[in-house]
Amino acid sequence: MRIAMIGSGYVGLVSGACFADFGHQVVCVDKDTRKIDALKQGEMPIYEPGLSELVASNARQGRLSFTTDLKDPVAEADAVFIAVGTPSRRGDGHADLTYVYDAAREVARAISGFTAVITKSTVPVGTGDEVERVMRQTRGDADFAVVSNPEFLREGAAIRDFKHPDRIVIGTHDERAKELMAEIYRPLYLNRAPIMYTERRTAELIKYAANAFLATKITFINEMADLAEKVGADVQEVARGIGLDNRIGGKFLHAGPGFGGSCFPKDTLALIKTGQDYEAPLRIVETVVAVNDQRKRAMARKVLAAAGGSLRDKTVAILGLTFKPNTDDMRDSPSIPLITALQDMGAKVRAYDPEGMQQARDVLSNEVAYTDSAYACADGADAMVIVTEWEQFRALDLDAIRASMKSPVIVDLRNVYPAEEVEKRGFAYIGIGRAPARNR
Ligand code: NAD
Repeated sequence: MRIAMIGSGYVGLVSGACFADFGHQVVCVDKDTRKIDALKQGEMPIYEPGLSELVASNARQGRLSFTTDLKDPVAEADAVFIAVGTPSRRGDGHADLTYVYDAAREVARAISGFTAVITKSTVPVGTGDEVERVMRQTRGDADFAVVSNPEFLREGAAIRDFKHPDRIVIGTHDERAKELMAEIYRPLYLNRAPIMYTERRTAELIKYAANAFLATKITFINEMADLAEKVGADVQEVARGIGLDNRIGGKFLHAGPGFGGSCFPKDTLALIKTGQDYEAPLRIVETVVAVNDQRKRAMARKVLAAAGGSLRDKTVAILGLTFKPNTDDMRDSPSIPLITALQDMGAKVRAYDPEGMQQARDVLSNEVAYTDSAYACADGADAMVIVTEWEQFRALDLDAIRASMKSPVIVDLRNVYPAEEVEKRGFAYIGIGRAPARNR
């Protein structure tokens, strides 16, 4: 099968490399010349475990290539995937579909013979209809079917998720497109990954409903954490206690600083807008977004309280900047509003992240001082805040850290450490949803 992947970001590049690994002939296209030049040199534009090896081996075997010009690969393709960004539109929270429609126009001009045009980007209900209209308007004689095939991979575990998905959702009623999609995903079908065929609009809504539900689960446990702190309960045990119930499930029940990242914030907002447009308000999702927004600043107040009520001229060490471990993605990371709030409170912020510091420099204020290790970050600090649960923060030499800090205060927004262990080493420790050990 010949595939053209339009957009070579987190989703396009991972999907393209995995399709090539299945044995398909894939060309990844991107408008960003620097990205494509880097990929041609074997350099990854993003950090994703295992990606560099996967790309290198498929490129070496001639199944994966990169270009900025979609004409030839689209003309030769049986299937064209659109995996461009759909960020929040400035001002109103709707999904900005400019990149999708621009890509659709370019694709329409270039296709030849029957081609399935598949939206892998997360797009609001009805976008497939509009892509079809835009393509038809651009090229009346083109032979194509527009399919929705939302992507559910998680950054940090993207390759595994792509190759072992919980399900594959395919929205189309075009028989030729169905056959093509079955062929493309055949290796996963052989792995018994459930493939669900449905209407295009239903497929589009499944993606938003899934993300909104997961965001709700996180927000629910975050509020439980606040209550647990007040009543002297342990939210981690509450999460385990409810998660063992199969009807609930244990995933996405880790209390923390609030959800962020490249998907949940923008997708929940876009879903709310769709609900409003269709006069079917989604009040639960609206509340989830509001609760989550307030949480970011509440985390700064937690640090303020831990530092004795004032942060003026104090140094706060931030461990972890990305919205989750194993990615360099800083989009909508909870660290951004947290750091801004700490700076508003007069703190000097120092930060360390294993992979995210380059992207962080583009989104955080110049006032942040970056260090090259967790230890350098904590050195002389008045409080250390664990924001992202990178593996390397799970086994820090706490004695060395205590000895180097100005005052030994740890605010652990991911509950990485057991309170007793840290307090035994002479720290004041504040986790999420757990009463301090000395109160128990
Ligand atoms: P990204 O910003 O990393 O990548 C998008 C790429 O598309 C960019 O490199 C951009 O240069 C390129 N592009 C834009 N217009 C183009 C055009 N006309 N021709 C060629 N290239 C073009 O975005 P992403 O994180 O990969 O997300 C892509 C889509 O997938 C979004 O809709 C997102 O919501 C969805 N999604 C993302 C994830 C994730 O974890 N990142 C997971 C599931 C779904």
